[in-house]
Amino acid sequence: FTEGLEAVRDQPPVTPDGRRIGLYANTGLISDINLSLAAGCDGIGLHRTEFPFLIRDRFPGEEEQEALYRQVLEQFSPYPVILRTLDVGGDKSLAYFPIEEENPFLGWRGIRLTLDHPEIFLTQLRAMLRADRGLNNLQILIPMVSRLEEISGVRRLVQRARQELAEDGIETRSPPVGVMIEVPATIYQIDRYCDQADFLSVGSNDLTQYLLAVDRNNSRVASLYDELHPAVLAAIREVVRAARRHGKRLSVCGGMAGDPAGVILLMGLGVEALSMSVSSLLRIKWVIRRVPVARAAELVNRAVDMDSPEEVRRMLRRTLEEYE
Ligand code: PEP
Ligand code: MG
Repeated sequence: FTEGLEAVRDQPPVTPDGRRIGLYANTGLISDINLSLAAGCDGIGLHRTEFPFLIRDRFPGEEEQEALYRQVLEQFSPYPVILRTLDVGGDKSLAYFPIEEENPFLGWRGIRLTLDHPEIFLTQLRAMLRADRGLNNLQILIPMVSRLEEISGVRRLVQRARQELAEDGIETRSPPVGVMIEVPATIYQIDRYCDQADFLSVGSNDLTQYLLAVDRNNSRVASLYDELHPAVLAAIREVVRAARRHGKRLSVCGGMAGDPAGVILLMGLGVEALSMSVSSLLRIKWVIRRVPVARAAELVNRAVDMDSPEEVRRMLRRTLEEYE
């Protein structure tokens, strides 16, 4: 198996029936960046910006952030880099910005917090825009979106950040702004989200957590948490169909995109861009090069009608064994 993996390192991520799947990395640390460059990918589908915030004892300043983002954008230029705005709250808390809540995953998290604190948000946006100068490969992704106004709120602040920089003689470009589809409510208004966002990224970790009402970090209910749950598949199917109707770019960036079984289902649903942890890149490329999309589509049609995620997993385990 490992030998098979090394053999795909220099091969393109194309299925046996000729479909090119975009292969992107999830990053957060500088070490991830070097590894994903080595594994070969089409860019960064999700850069989690929270790590430098988590390891410091204060909010990193504008120039500090600019230098961090610049490094990522530069290393991957001319390939696209999706920087996600600060997603703290939930299970990620900052010692210097304590939040006391009974239900942190349903609380002041991601875009909710940053829209309430425009000074924190504007600093991050200005840093991103400055880092993008001369490279033009930045895309901005908004986490934990549950209301359409959050998109216009972000666009307004991006405009304001650009204006503030322009007043200091710093000219920047207006980058694409995308939305994480990870709160189930967005799927019931998905056409509106497609209208307002430049691209969509399905966060299958949180989508699974919120759709199944299972805490993604609680070991007592860990057996109930499964991204292959037929309800999760049906939800993602709606998102893929809507993105296609509207001609919007869509990728999946949760753990499902790094799981061979999950990837077969996603390819079957018509997902053409996957973003995953760096350690999964080669294995997933191997799966892409083995399994025809036509076969994956048959499998996902069966999976959506199954009763349980265990049944889905069993079917995919058998499928993967066939290809090994
Ligand atoms: C997700 O929710 O699927 C996701 C990619 O974001 P995070 O794991 O950082 O919440
Ligand atoms: Mg998430």
